[in-house]
Amino acid sequence: MTQGRYYPEGANFPDCLSGLFFFAAFSLFRFHGVFILWPMPHRTGDIAGVISRVPDTARGLSSRLHIIMNDEQLLRYSRHILLDPIGVEGQERIMGARVLIVGAGGLGSPAALYLASAGVGRITLADGDTVDLTNLQRQILHTQDRVGQAKALSGQAALACLNPEVVVVPVTERLAGERLAALIAEADTVLDCCDNFDTRHAVNRACVKHRVPLVSGAAVRFSGQVSVFDFRRTDSPCYHCLFPEGKDVEEMRCAVTGIFAPLTGIIGALQAAEALKLISGAGESLTGRLLLLNGLTMEWRSVRFGKDPRCAVCADSGKGIQSR
Ligand SMILES: [Zn+2]
Repeated sequence: MTQGRYYPEGANFPDCLSGLFFFAAFSLFRFHGVFILWPMPHRTGDIAGVISRVPDTARGLSSRLHIIMNDEQLLRYSRHILLDPIGVEGQERIMGARVLIVGAGGLGSPAALYLASAGVGRITLADGDTVDLTNLQRQILHTQDRVGQAKALSGQAALACLNPEVVVVPVTERLAGERLAALIAEADTVLDCCDNFDTRHAVNRACVKHRVPLVSGAAVRFSGQVSVFDFRRTDSPCYHCLFPEGKDVEEMRCAVTGIFAPLTGIIGALQAAEALKLISGAGESLTGRLLLLNGLTMEWRSVRFGKDPRCAVCADSGKGIQSR
């Protein structure tokens, strides 16, 4: 291990209440919590949608639009609202957020499902592949009757069934170049759920350039890992600090090495959790930590790493970013 860098062993980086109580608490919250504690005009009747832009970014939060929930939405997201670190304000940030998910496969499937069920306002789902029979063992966005369809479109159909309020933008191409940069620039948070190093590094460069937080996940065989790169912070390392591009690191693909199906669910769900924390402002993110899971022993390790002062991608992020 060198300062600011961590290489996993073997240098193989895997790519690839109860009812009545609740309603009583909820009613108290709505009629006392909202109207007494909320100092701004707040109608909870039929108003749904975008009310105002708030300077959340100035407070280090991700969501750009302030949503005010209607009655049905207050009920739908009540179990989030009951959580102090999220509450009404955090849930409204989630509903105003724009998230880009790169990859609608094993990791992208659970991540997209949890982000949609949690009410993320807009999800851009990008994947250039089509659904294959071999995907169905773990890629739970897709169904047997959609084999042959573009994964982004199959995923859009699944998310529409789960939560029709969420706007899902399907991108049926493998992201690269200006298209990738444009989609990242308009996102509040990016989830890297792809299966190849080229895309991982391209996503990292664009996220550094546009200062968009990146939640990176990988899983192969029985091994999984996840980390967060929060480029709203000047001290955040980037993906290249951790896994420098061009190093002789073996790329492992699920198609060749195999993958334990629930492992992608665990890592993808973790990515969704970190994204929702970044957006809502709840808790502490995994920035500067790499979380590793051995699925065979079910042991977790957390490894701290720092910013590489000589990193070709993020070292001069305040003065200008290397791009290609
Ligand atoms: Zn870096």
